[in-house]
Amino acid sequence: HAKNEGGKRVQIFEPFMHEDFLMLRQIESGLTDALENDEFTVLFQPIIDLATGRTKSCEALLRWKHPELGDVSPAMFIPVAESAGLIGDITEWVLRKACEAAAEWPEDVHISVNISPALLKQNNLPVTIIETLVNTGMVARRLELEITESVLLDKNPHTNSLLRQLQKMGLRLCLDDFGTGFSSLTYLRSWEFDTIKIDKSFIRNIGNSPTDQKIIGAVVQLAKSLDVATVAEGVETEEQLSRVREAGCSRVQGYYYARPMTAAQATERLVQEELPDDGPLKIVNQR
Ligand code: C2E
Ligand code: MG
Ligand code: MG
Ligand code: MG
Repeated sequence: HAKNEGGKRVQIFEPFMHEDFLMLRQIESGLTDALENDEFTVLFQPIIDLATGRTKSCEALLRWKHPELGDVSPAMFIPVAESAGLIGDITEWVLRKACEAAAEWPEDVHISVNISPALLKQNNLPVTIIETLVNTGMVARRLELEITESVLLDKNPHTNSLLRQLQKMGLRLCLDDFGTGFSSLTYLRSWEFDTIKIDKSFIRNIGNSPTDQKIIGAVVQLAKSLDVATVAEGVETEEQLSRVREAGCSRVQGYYYARPMTAAQATERLVQEELPDDGPLKIVNQR
């Protein structure tokens, strides 16, 4: 009891220790041993090339099963990992799992890995990536780094030189969540992105929003003129698929084609795609 302290009590229980705060603390402390305790897995979601109907890349998506909280969404725990200084080790682990998986896939299938803004302000990402590529026998051209546009907003000169360095190494860069930031068009001008991902918020209403449809069409035309591929993210329905096709998107990612799946399931799917269809026998793997 603090009664004896002459009324100068410090209220430590309010307003901070409500449920959300406790949960954040639980997530933060849980993340500290999550790698060690083997609580993470990586799932892979195919990105389909609309011209060929085949998988162009798979995006590595991290999953975490907390012993008490159960499945925690990456949208929830990634920001915590960033602020707790844990994102470097986690990303290194995801990169390794992703490249190990992709090493089993056909050589023309890419692997896309999300890279946290925080890591583009440090020095060790290129080294981590080179080590991972060497250890897994992957070539740089198959690895695509997904960077959300908010990262580039702060115009950090270090981020700039790091991105250039990654490009020089032969890595592909993808501008993720395109359209959600503030100066997407500026980024397209300053960076040689190989791909932009149109955020799923634009795809959601594409069926009944002529405006969204027009915006997507314009973005696709712009990207084409800059020789940048476009991915429509979050395509769930046949209607959305035909709309993004009409708009000229080159690739599609979403539940309509495939949900995130295990490495083994992805490998099986990719092997199936390589098999010849019915009809005249095709020679597979002739590149
Ligand atoms: P993101 O990079 O934009 O990833 C796409 C998200 O959309 C994924 O959510 C995916 O499961 C979801 N998605 C795909 N198709 C559909 C669809 O048809 N409908 C709907 N409603 N959603 C779809 P997820 O896996 O929950 O990841 C959320 C975010 O967490 C990611 O957004 C990414 O920013 C971050 N994240 C996930 N894994 C990693 C990681 O390894 N490292 C980092 N730094 N961030 C990660
Ligand atoms: Mg992504
Ligand atoms: Mg995205
Ligand atoms: Mg997103």
